[in-house]
Amino acid sequence: MTDERINLIGLSREELGGLLAEMGEKPFRAKQVWHWIYHRGATDFEQMTTLAASLRPKLAERFSLARPGVSRELRSDDGSRKWLLEFTKGQEAECVFIPEEDRGALCISSQIGCTLTCKFCHTGTQLLVRNLTAGEIVGQLMVARDSYGEWPAPKGGRLLSNIVMMGMGEPLMNYDAVAKALRIVMDNEGIAISKRRITLSTSGVVPLIRRCGAELGVKLAISLHAVTDELRDKIMPINRKYPLEELMAACREYPGADNARRITFEYVMLKDVNDSPADAHALARLVKGIPAKFNLIPFNPWPGAPYECSTPRAMKKFADILNDAGYSAPIRTPRGRDILAACGQLRSETQRERMSLYKARIAAGGEDDHAKAPHPASS
Ligand code: SAH
Ligand code: SF4
Repeated sequence: MTDERINLIGLSREELGGLLAEMGEKPFRAKQVWHWIYHRGATDFEQMTTLAASLRPKLAERFSLARPGVSRELRSDDGSRKWLLEFTKGQEAECVFIPEEDRGALCISSQIGCTLTCKFCHTGTQLLVRNLTAGEIVGQLMVARDSYGEWPAPKGGRLLSNIVMMGMGEPLMNYDAVAKALRIVMDNEGIAISKRRITLSTSGVVPLIRRCGAELGVKLAISLHAVTDELRDKIMPINRKYPLEELMAACREYPGADNARRITFEYVMLKDVNDSPADAHALARLVKGIPAKFNLIPFNPWPGAPYECSTPRAMKKFADILNDAGYSAPIRTPRGRDILAACGQLRSETQRERMSLYKARIAAGGEDDHAKAPHPASS
């Protein structure tokens, strides 16, 4: 049975206020309900004990507080957790939490699949693409908080302290929903994660970088991956629309970027493609004048990928050159290897497993249920 109630998760404060006003409730009710949803993490209206007992069932009749469905939750020995979330039947994306000492970053998806087809990215090969709604984006954080029991979030030492929009999809191709979700996440009377603890990663949708800076002011990460238009055009088709010069100009103008809040340039290390010492020198020149730091990402191979990861030696040399030029350039160590925490992998792994199960069932003369077949693009 489908739930026809309106899900309150993902509505703006104004929208929530409007719905309650239609029921004849005063504005302070919206404030109370907001607090219960986003500060206390209520999953049921009956938990909202500051509301009149007669109001709670009325709310439950019209509204839900549904989180995305969790298809799988994996816990790594190193403390990482990963959720494979099913948003609507057969449409999945993932969410990964990477802990550090007394804090940690949750990696959130913005789309199912991605339209931008970067050559090294598995997500870009998936045919089925749809934008996630604001509720589905905030819902990922709610699932993670549920899992760690961080309701209300402890002051100071909370685990889920930071957010990176670096999961599946290109957040700036779904700007409206992402902006709406981040406004909910930043709201002081709810989840209250500050813009300084939120990083949005983009492949370089230049006009929306400007909007993101002006309207949201979150930290910026740029998936750069190449130092010439010639190579970037080839591995990241978005570069043909917004070439390096425009991208770098948008970074130079990005509000709030200073030495304390540097722009992160992500650089995936592709063997013999973009990893020469000359590339490293060119990279340092390219970002001159921008408060910048680098994140060197070892290429994470997937079946049929046209690239290999650079050698450890090449990566070390590359990092040394950037360090000598005065930049922080850690080689991101893969975390959560045992649960395949890297971008896109859990989803494809599960779908592969399902495809084998499905094929095995067919081979055994079992049910022939096409609805259960995984999407062919990711099998
Ligand atoms: N679409 C956004 C955010 C999601 S991708 C963006 O492109 O920035 C998150 C990061 O993972 C990006 O820097 C992306 O370039 C990188 N990435 C994608 N596929 C990868 C792979 N196979 N190995 C290593 N990094 C990869
Ligand atoms: Fe999309 Fe980012 Fe992957 Fe490129 S790297 S295809 S923009 S998710």
